[in-house]
Amino acid sequence: MPFNISDIRADFPILSQTIYKRPLIYFDNAATTQKPVQVIRAISNYYEQDNCNIHRGVHYLSVKATEAFEEARNEIREFINAHATHEVVFTKGASESLNLVASSFGKKFLKPGDEVITTIMEHHSNFVPWQMICEEKGAVLKVAGILPDGQLDLEHLYSLISDRTRIIALTHVSNVLGTINPVKEIIAHAHSKGIPVLIDGAQGVSHIPVDVTDLDCDFYCFSGHKMYGPMGIGVLYGKERWLEELPPYQTGGEMVKDVTVERTTFNELPFKFEAGTPNVEGVIGLRAANQYLRNLGMDNIRAYEDELLKHAVERFSAIEDMRFYGTAPEKASLVSFLVGDIHPFDAGTIIDKMGIAVRTGHHCAQPLIDHFGIPGTVRASFAFYNTIEEIDKLAEAVKRVKTMFK
Ligand code: PMP
Repeated sequence: MPFNISDIRADFPILSQTIYKRPLIYFDNAATTQKPVQVIRAISNYYEQDNCNIHRGVHYLSVKATEAFEEARNEIREFINAHATHEVVFTKGASESLNLVASSFGKKFLKPGDEVITTIMEHHSNFVPWQMICEEKGAVLKVAGILPDGQLDLEHLYSLISDRTRIIALTHVSNVLGTINPVKEIIAHAHSKGIPVLIDGAQGVSHIPVDVTDLDCDFYCFSGHKMYGPMGIGVLYGKERWLEELPPYQTGGEMVKDVTVERTTFNELPFKFEAGTPNVEGVIGLRAANQYLRNLGMDNIRAYEDELLKHAVERFSAIEDMRFYGTAPEKASLVSFLVGDIHPFDAGTIIDKMGIAVRTGHHCAQPLIDHFGIPGTVRASFAFYNTIEEIDKLAEAVKRVKTMFK
């Protein structure tokens, strides 16, 4: 065991409660993770001592809040190993980061007949923005398929590339299947043909060490709330040359350099993409979350979550009639399943009554769920504060579901 689980759990006050007279078991971490006291305190300290609008202020509080905000940006840069702090743009979440790139990239670079490639395993947030901008620009959205075990079909993906391909946008880790895509290899292949690649890292950063310089991705997007930080804050990493070229996504205060009645010039990076008063408390909380993850060590987190996943697969495979969705060899710590023909909502409702939070439904990935021809799945997604004992309790709950529907 790389770290002490009871110490870790003590940092997450929400986990110590009972629901339906049972200890809460929280397995909905792919939807959002819980927050350690370090994050909660950082936010309340900020409001008790430092709250102020940032940038341009000459007074003490404004300077202090600005420094904390910009230090946080630098720490996020280090966390993902970006070259420069101005390549780290704060947004309100992965969805906004993805919409920003689709909209600004599409406006500047997509022409009728051009092509964008994505995959069938995308979250709607990395699918719908591309669908919409392609429709607006008369471009074509091509969708790579998957293999039966939930791996991306690389041969299919590569066969979709043509001289009209302008960008490839794909997820690092599938929020339904858990599949970890070989993004480094895909990026190298795309770059050999001069095509930039966007990675949706919403399910990546909290589970695996991410190094954007090593990956050489052109854009990497993620949310704070899925990495133990607050909601309403997220990150867009973009290579400087792309961020320089893209037009602003939103306009307003802070993102301008000079405004006259006739025309406006835009601020330098990253402020060009940060219109209006930013979510300062979100950035402060994200910084604390980031420090928490660094203290644990992303390699330790990965190793422990792999143990949880291995145990879950062993336990659940022993239950008759379990149907698994996503069994790729490279997989993050989640299991998506159906119990025989039992509707996922029914299964999820019974599991909930046993004090266990799992997510049911299409997980905002309808094209993928349609591909399987099912109504949805039950998804149990694990974090480093979960335990082997909790997984055993879920296995018992699944058996209970089976008996009730017999
Ligand atoms: N991409 C993936 C793979 C996700 O799992 C999610 C959230 N479930 C998102 C994008 C969107 O993240 P957010 O709702 O935080 O913007």
